[in-house]
Amino acid sequence: MLNDPRSHGLWERTAPDAPVTGPLCDQLTADVVVIGAGYTGLSTALHLAERGVSVVVLEAAEVGFGGAGRNVGLVNAGMWVMPEDLCAGLGDHFGNRLLEALGNGPRKVFEVIDRYAIACEAERQGTLHLAVGDKGLAEIRERARQWQKRGAPVHLLDAAETAARVGSSAYAGALWDQRAGTIQPLAYARGLARAAVGQGVRLFTGSPVAALRRDGADWTAQTPGGSVRGKWVVLGTDAYTGGLFPQIRTQQVHLPYFNFATEPLPASARTRILPNREGCWDTPEVLTSFRFDQQGRLVFGSVGALRRGGAGVHRAWARRAIARIWPELAGIGLEAEWYGQIGMTANNLPRFHKLDERVITVCGYNGRGISPGTVFGQLLAAYVAGDIGDADMPLPVTDPAPVSALPLREAWYEAGAQLVHVAQARF
Ligand SMILES: Cc1cc2nc3c(=O)[nH]c(=O)nc-3n(C[C@H](O)[C@H](O)[C@H](O)COP(=O)(O)OP(=O)(O)OC[C@H]3O[C@@H](n4cnc5c(N)ncnc54)[C@H](O)[C@@H]3O)c2cc1C
Repeated sequence: MLNDPRSHGLWERTAPDAPVTGPLCDQLTADVVVIGAGYTGLSTALHLAERGVSVVVLEAAEVGFGGAGRNVGLVNAGMWVMPEDLCAGLGDHFGNRLLEALGNGPRKVFEVIDRYAIACEAERQGTLHLAVGDKGLAEIRERARQWQKRGAPVHLLDAAETAARVGSSAYAGALWDQRAGTIQPLAYARGLARAAVGQGVRLFTGSPVAALRRDGADWTAQTPGGSVRGKWVVLGTDAYTGGLFPQIRTQQVHLPYFNFATEPLPASARTRILPNREGCWDTPEVLTSFRFDQQGRLVFGSVGALRRGGAGVHRAWARRAIARIWPELAGIGLEAEWYGQIGMTANNLPRFHKLDERVITVCGYNGRGISPGTVFGQLLAAYVAGDIGDADMPLPVTDPAPVSALPLREAWYEAGAQLVHVAQARF
């Protein structure tokens, strides 16, 4: 997008077109102004419009320009944080609500996909969290224990079962989460946009909100070509928040994450590697993720930015890592590469903020935004409509809290990922 082939890579090549939109060149009014056309903004807009509320969505670039159009497409149930730690951190009231909401997140995503017939390569075969070594095995066993205690359909697979599913003996075991799945992430964002427009949402792209000002009891969002006056403002800008709300930017550490897409694998390899089409990621801190797209390309990613020296380092690592996991894929061609930024919060959990009177946001999905963005969009719509209140949300209202030494931490993540990949590619 915006003439950068490394912004959305494969997803931009294979997603159906977005609805035709353009910049705002008018003065409009609406009940609700939504800023950002990713999952949070679009899900909020769609669920508000379903209730008959008038909504204008203002997107700085294009639909899915942020994380929504760049991610791996793993439709996860829950966050990175272990269920018991999550409850300990948020307290039982919000902790149990959040686990319930996110545990059901993939179901909500697939319901929306079905309701609006969104063509986004949806696969509902679950995900595999792959254990590397004894440490990884201990982690997935504990995660399985905690989820199973809550009745979640997660299953531990031993090394042999994992090898049969992955087509590689590289892993000590896996946690199969039957609730989860994969999608083509940009296609899902564009499908949400089409559904929202179909429900009467007015959507403008190329329309960055540069200022938000009070207008009596209302708010006016100003873009270069026009303005929208509304009673409520919902911000859905997460890790792509710019200067409009600097307090959102400074509470997130941006972690870069890249993907490479191989050429379509031969049919013989596709019957051996992930024959059930689960989405996968592994246990190390600098994790590796992989999945198939609908045409049989392997989408293979990890932490790092494809800029400056990073592109060469991470490409060399990806080639080696693919060949190490599946020796028969050594030398496979790479057709596309792209990357984006993930917004990490200090406690690895999303945040619900009231930035001003009737200006609200949920953000900080920590690399888990497909289900949460969809679910929180629905909840924010119910909140704005007055159907639920603070205590019904699965997160407490908090003030944004800046992270210390932000530039240093971000530089460390980017450089650290390169060092790890240089080392792994060599040895
Ligand atoms: C490489 C990568 C891999 C990931 N993998 C996964 C995964 O496998 N599974 C998963 O669940 N999550 C994953 N994530 C996280 C997920 O993509 C995000 O959490 C999710 O996209 C957040 O959705 P959102 O709608 O809140 O924000 P975004 O999708 O980031 O959308 C924000 C939008 O706001 C717009 N915007 C910003 N400022 C303004 C303004 N002033 N005016 C108007 N518009 C504005 C931006 O242009 C952007 O389009 C990944 C993220 C990345 C980057």
